Amino acid sequence: MKVYLDNAATTPMAKEVIDEITPFIATYFGNPSSTHYFGRQTKNAIEITRKRIADSINAKSNEIIFTSGGTEADNMALRCAVTDLKVERIITSKLEHHAVGHTAENLKTCFNTEIIYLSTDEFGNPSINELETLLKEDKKTLVSLMHANNEIGTLLPIKRVAQLCNQFDHVYFHSDTVQTMGHYQFDLEELSIDFLTCSAHKLHGPKGIGFLYVNNSIVINPIITGGSQERKQRGGTENLSGIVGLGKAIELSFSKLKTHRNHVENLKQKMIKGLKEIDKRILFNGETSPERSLYTVLNVCFPKETCNSMLLFSLDIHGIAASGGSACSSGSNIGSHVLAELPNQENCQCVRFSFSRYNTVKEIDYTLQKIKKIIQKK
Ligand code: PLP
Repeated sequence: MKVYLDNAATTPMAKEVIDEITPFIATYFGNPSSTHYFGRQTKNAIEITRKRIADSINAKSNEIIFTSGGTEADNMALRCAVTDLKVERIITSKLEHHAVGHTAENLKTCFNTEIIYLSTDEFGNPSINELETLLKEDKKTLVSLMHANNEIGTLLPIKRVAQLCNQFDHVYFHSDTVQTMGHYQFDLEELSIDFLTCSAHKLHGPKGIGFLYVNNSIVINPIITGGSQERKQRGGTENLSGIVGLGKAIELSFSKLKTHRNHVENLKQKMIKGLKEIDKRILFNGETSPERSLYTVLNVCFPKETCNSMLLFSLDIHGIAASGGSACSSGSNIGSHVLAELPNQENCQCVRFSFSRYNTVKEIDYTLQKIKKIIQKK
């Protein structure tokens, strides 16, 4: 049996997405910038998709800029905030994805942007009180806080942070929603946010495509020049099949969001319960309650006395794919920068299990049974 529980790293493409994309690989090939029939056909497909995506989050079509994925969208938001909006400081947290963390550090080096890291509690929640105090200082600021942490699943009270930022004219708010887009409903008419990011491969879409939502009160200059695509905000011939696939993936996610959410949350709670029954010394990193935690992610802390350092390898032998932290930096032996910020990690072997709507109860039972075996052997 093969069980894929690494959906925060990437997800399998939905069959419906593959079906939607296929004609845009096999048949429709015109350059969307061409004014003839072939170009009009593909341009049309892109603009229909843009509208479809905008409608799904109650935004406007001109607020959606297609990018190569989450990393580029995060880069674009932070870099444009500094170079175009003249932001002098970025308030963020040490638990952000490197697409935000490393970009902020780079902006500090290049533009002397002040970077402030909010303190975080033992579950990875950034201090909102600290944020409130800092925002009262009259300095052009970008707040960049992710909606859900990709390693531990802790959720940001995004509405509260958006409302707080909105009280100050000198504050912009960016949220990395790469792990939550398609998993939670967003209403951008109601929720005042300046930048949001999305990556299709996290929601059963293709790799190498995503978007940046930019509130249309903001005018940004391109970070990629040389073409007038994306309203001159990002040059380059569009990733046609990717865009179409992203649109379908978003539509599928939102069309059955509640059903998917209930199913996945049940799998996660079953996993938590099962692990506690196997050994009560097993703990969890980050928040775990349905209200405060992303339902697709569960970061498990196996005390070293219950397992050996080969835990991930042993799971892999049994056909179970999980991750030791963030797969985005796999290939390197550098430990997780997120877990490093949490207490009591010294004696833990941490494994991130991340679920999708395609996982089944049977797969969770199988995984628990194998974990029990691996732990008992120890
Ligand atoms: N932000 C978060 C929270 C992520 O989890 C990831 C990918 O793991 C990214 C950004 C980067 O997205 P992409 O792989 O599309 O560049």
